[in-house]
Amino acid sequence: MKLSLPKKVEIHEVVLRDGIQNEKKIVPTEEKLRLIGDLVACGVRRIEVSSFVNPKLVPQMADAEELWERIERKRGVLYSALILSEGGLERAIRFRVPHVGVFVSASETHSRKNSNKSVSEALKEAVRLVGRAQDAGMKVRAGVMNAFGCAYEGAVPVSRVLKLVKVFKKSGADEICLADSSGLANPLQMEGVIHRVRALTGETALSLHLHNTRGLGLANVYAALEQGVSIFDTSLGGLGGCPFIPGARGNIATEDTIGMLHGMGIRTGIDLCRLIETSRRFEVFMGRAFPALLSHIQSPPC
Ligand code: MG
Repeated sequence: MKLSLPKKVEIHEVVLRDGIQNEKKIVPTEEKLRLIGDLVACGVRRIEVSSFVNPKLVPQMADAEELWERIERKRGVLYSALILSEGGLERAIRFRVPHVGVFVSASETHSRKNSNKSVSEALKEAVRLVGRAQDAGMKVRAGVMNAFGCAYEGAVPVSRVLKLVKVFKKSGADEICLADSSGLANPLQMEGVIHRVRALTGETALSLHLHNTRGLGLANVYAALEQGVSIFDTSLGGLGGCPFIPGARGNIATEDTIGMLHGMGIRTGIDLCRLIETSRRFEVFMGRAFPALLSHIQSPPC
């Protein structure tokens, strides 16, 4: 069953985390701070600032502490971090991070590569992290990676996704996120999975983290909108990709997603023209062409 499209969508901007984590050029803290400021000025109200991971594995995130110390936190903006372990949570607590994401993969192979744990071990730890983060006063979103398929294993049974969602719902997480980490979802599958997941999540907010690996990103957004989803992770310029997924490509581009939403009369609160300028400026800084489309056309619709 299709629902009427939401009137407003929240954008959760991940360029500073998923977006640059695979980029060879290390983005200096100063530039990250500038980008965060620019995004907020565009109207972005949810920003994933960093992950607290081992800097040896993900060098781009090595300045997480300094970044959190120096961000000028604006009222009404949700600054978020990704955590993968107790150690990461300790670091997040120390830097008064108000919102964290905790993810478990639905694929055994990816779980081992990403966290060195089986799915059930990772899930146990994630549930502990949700509780501890909430005890520390944080809001938490709990997510399922590779919820629509896995680059290593292929199809992922929906039953496995539902099992993880059920546990996260019971854990009391504030939001549940489904991630198409390998970019394998199609719109029909999206419709079916979300329909079944929503039957479990009830009033708990549901968000989507999509990759445009096979060009189906925005088609999948549309299918999710029709199922009532109104929170989407997007990345400026369409940057992004998991270091532990072969052939991983960018997240859905913030500018392209907003262009489609605004074109359909769905509000985001974000100034698209200004966002495109920000994307173009960051593209020049990074010195390579970004995959986003709208920031590369002569007269973008903004
Ligand atoms: Mg991702």
